[in-house]
This record gives sequence, C-alpha cells and structure tokens, in this order.
Amino acid sequence: MTTPITKRGLMLVLSSPSGAGKTSICKKLLQQDTDLVLSVSATTRKRRPGEVEGKDYQFLSIQEFESRINKSQFLEYAKVFGNYYGTPAQLVEGTLKSGVDVLFDIDWQGTQQLKARARQDLVSVFILPPSIKELEKRLFKRAQDTSEVVANRMSKSASEMSHYPEYDYVIINHDLDKSVQQVQSILCAERTRRERQIGLVEFVKYLRAQL
Ligand code: 5GP
Repeated sequence: MTTPITKRGLMLVLSSPSGAGKTSICKKLLQQDTDLVLSVSATTRKRRPGEVEGKDYQFLSIQEFESRINKSQFLEYAKVFGNYYGTPAQLVEGTLKSGVDVLFDIDWQGTQQLKARARQDLVSVFILPPSIKELEKRLFKRAQDTSEVVANRMSKSASEMSHYPEYDYVIINHDLDKSVQQVQSILCAERTRRERQIGLVEFVKYLRAQL
C-alpha cells in the first residue's frame, strides 16, 4: 500500500470589499503553494493596464458572456459593479477530481452559488480591511480606475462587508504576509479534514491487519 490516501481537491474562496488586498493575497498564495490552481474568471469589464487575457481574466463581450450563460458554461456568475463576472465550469471539476485545490477570487453572490452547489468542497474566507482609510488608500494606489469608479466601489463597500457572517473564516488584512500565512494555515487544516481524505478506512484496516 504505497499511496493509500488520496484526496479530492477543495474550493478555497476569498472574498472582500474592493481594495481590501484580496488579489495580492491570492497572488502570493499561488506563488507559495504549488498544489493550488487559480480559477480564472470571465468578465465583461474593461481590461485594466497590465492585466493579461487568460491570466487575470477572460475578457468577453456581453453577447459572448450571455451566450455562455445560456449554454450553462458557468459554475456561478453575477453582476458586480454593472459588469458580468463568472467562473467557467470546465477547469474546476477536473482539477478537484485530480486532488488539486482551486482558488476563487469571487464576490459574495458567487460564493452563495458555490455553497448551494457543493457545500462539502467549499472553504470560504472573507478579507476585511484594517480601516476605511486604508481601503480608500489601496483603491487609489491601484490608480487603474477613474476616481468615479473608485467612488462607486467605496460606496458599495458597506453592503459588501455586510456579508462576512456567511463565510467560514474572517481575516483582517493588517499585513499582507501575515494574512497569507493565515490563509495557508486554514488550507493546511482543511486539507487534513477526515472527510477529505479518501481511502482512510482501507488504510486503517491495512494498519490494523499488521498488528
Ligand atoms: P475586479 O473588477 O476588481 O477585478 O473585481 C470586482 C469584484 O468581482 C471582486 O470582488 C471579485 O472578487 C469579483 N469577481 C471576480 N471574478 C468573479 C467571478 O467569477 N464571479 C463572481 N461572482 N465574482 C467575481
């Protein structure tokens, strides 16, 4: 019995109000953890400078996005800030089956849809900013959106933040490295959950048979 324990991958969801630092946490996490794959979302929003097609998002026209909705090609989708965002279903199921975990940077609407579809596979983390001043600073520092877009995002923050009780874990992002460490600890514990380790019954039987 060489590799008795296999596992099904889990879905790690990170959500936050815009500007709380979630994207930076995701990037660092992916650099440090090779057993984690990012679910690249599709969106109808305009590409920001520096964003790469297929890496940051699949940038689609509204017609193309709606056609994919009609063909049930999204695991979840939602309208956020007036644009469509959605998770292409194709990659996710195969990745989970192969035992690799999938990271989602999606909002609370998408998280609710994933929860309804596959609660047992879902681990959800909500990221809060340390203060509103910091949230605004980060949004402006990004400097890729117009001040109108930033103001719109700030005004939506309160309602987005109200969804934190729907999440399994909450992290206040005072410090990027510390927050990444906290997410890694969550991942480590969730990967060790008994229900996620397939083949435990056989393995323990095998151990006991030798006594
Ligand atoms: P941004 O435009 O700043 O990249 O993203 C805006 C918001 O949309 C963020 O809160 C982000 O998490 C969310 N988002 C990105 N991709 C998806 C997705 O596939 N589904 C859902 N529901 N939300 C998404």
